[in-house]
Amino acid sequence: MKVFERLDAAIALTDDERMLLDSLRNVCRDTIAAQAAKNDREGTFPWDNVKALNALGMNAMFIPEAYGGAPLSYTAYLACMREVSKACASTGIIWGTNFHAIKPLIDFGTEEQKLRLLPRMAEGGLASLCITEPNAGSDATGMRTRFTEDGEHIIVNGGKTFITNGDVADVYVLFGKWDGIDDARKAISVLILEKGMPGLSVVRTEEKMGHRASSTATIAFDNVRVPRANLLKNPGDGLAILFASLNKSRPSIAAHALGIARAAFEDSVAYLNERRQSGRRIAEFQGIQFMLADLATDLAGAESWLWALASRIDAGDTDFGTEASMIKMRASDIAMRITTDAVQFMGGYGYTQDFRVERLMRDAKITQIWEGTNQVHRQLIGRSFISK
Ligand SMILES: Cc1cc2nc3c(=O)[nH]c(=O)nc-3n(C[C@H](O)[C@H](O)[C@H](O)COP(=O)(O)OP(=O)(O)OC[C@H]3O[C@@H](n4cnc5c(N)ncnc54)[C@H](O)[C@@H]3O)c2cc1C
Repeated sequence: MKVFERLDAAIALTDDERMLLDSLRNVCRDTIAAQAAKNDREGTFPWDNVKALNALGMNAMFIPEAYGGAPLSYTAYLACMREVSKACASTGIIWGTNFHAIKPLIDFGTEEQKLRLLPRMAEGGLASLCITEPNAGSDATGMRTRFTEDGEHIIVNGGKTFITNGDVADVYVLFGKWDGIDDARKAISVLILEKGMPGLSVVRTEEKMGHRASSTATIAFDNVRVPRANLLKNPGDGLAILFASLNKSRPSIAAHALGIARAAFEDSVAYLNERRQSGRRIAEFQGIQFMLADLATDLAGAESWLWALASRIDAGDTDFGTEASMIKMRASDIAMRITTDAVQFMGGYGYTQDFRVERLMRDAKITQIWEGTNQVHRQLIGRSFISK
């Protein structure tokens, strides 16, 4: 495992960030990983893990100091995302969704909005990012949730589906269409909703293949009266806000997928060195070594690419949309492949719940689907090479 130890040692983190990562690693081992199988089996929302992450002040790392945060680098955020997801992918996406949802408010909110809404997130609130609707998945411009002006309020009607944290969130960052703007792309706007607003309800939560401890909710809006003060930027600015936010959440999804991949790779190596057949350790068979070599090389390549991109973003680069698609797509494909091969490496035992690789394989699948399916990312990457 020397290659991966060297790669981890080379991640550009400050001493303080390394100390936080060390503390997080302990929490992951003692609390988060220890509960992961049970939470997955029972489909229980991991409140203990949320509390443990909040005790370390994990939300504060992506919130500016002026609003109660204690910001660290994007690299540190990604390293933490990978660490949590390695221990429990569900907990990783619950925490990561706070970042994905709150980023638009941090980047585009007014001073008043940030002073009012960010401190509670810094203290450990949960957020959700509400884009997908039953008839608007890959093509978000098909969304039908309506925002209608009524004096100093905006009335929201419609619904969203597959919303991570949708039943537990304190803050909802909601995309919908502004009544009166006909063009589907120019109508998209963003409102912040808060827990308990009359008319906001949870319709159902999904029974899923993986990420069974994270909640995925269908939510409905029935004449929800939202103060105009909760509008992010102007009516019609939603699509630009969406694209800007996705650029930073896609490397985050890659870090999440690479956490799952790392867990499967490490478990595989341990098993292959332990299990014996035909008088030899499985790791000594050349057929297995060739598989390991390909997986390790692809994993090391994806990790290196993630940290290189993170360093560029920390240095202030803002033009990385294609790279964000590339790392999301490649990391999630690798996670699916490594987890599937990890089950194969363990033979029949890999197919049972005695080993966590079966859970990792189920958890990996969604990383190829959410935050833009990998088909959509291939299209975005390919399109970027068409001459203008
Ligand atoms: C567990 C879970 C959590 C989620 N969390 C959130 C969340 O927090 N917030 C949120 O807003 N959404 C969330 N989603 C929704 C997720 O982002 C969507 O499921 C995803 O974007 C795909 O949309 P869809 O399911 O409608 O599939 P569709 O868009 O209907 O796609 C179906 C198939 O068609 C393919 N396809 C579609 N368009 C094209 C194209 N142009 N070219 C080639 N192939 C294409 C897709 O790749 C896919 O294989 C979540 C989903 C799940 C399952």
